[in-house]
Amino acid sequence: MPEVGGKITAAEKEKIDAWLRTRWPHNYKCPICQSENWTLAEHFVELRTFSGGALMVGGPVYPNVLIISVPCGYSVLMNAGGMGIAFGPTSPDQKPVAEEQAPLAPERQDEKDV
Ligand SMILES: [Zn+2]
Repeated sequence: MPEVGGKITAAEKEKIDAWLRTRWPHNYKCPICQSENWTLAEHFVELRTFSGGALMVGGPVYPNVLIISVPCGYSVLMNAGGMGIAFGPTSPDQKPVAEEQAPLAPERQDEKDV
């Protein structure tokens, strides 16, 4: 489970590196600068659902890993759940997600109430 503040732990970095070694295209070039020099950001980043332009606090988020082109900063987002990274509950009602069942995003509360 990621540290508070979203910093990627050493164990998660190993898991991400292993995932990338098997799926990241060999010699993948940055579409902007053509470099093959990429680095992994030190923190998970999140994408929030759109809520009419207002910030929705407590809503679902999609945790992602950020892979950055070193020379120019072009960035690629990879969904952390899709890489097998497990995240804890996003609300007191939600149970932690087992690592092998990590979804692409936390389950939406309004879908659970239906
Ligand atoms: Zn680049």
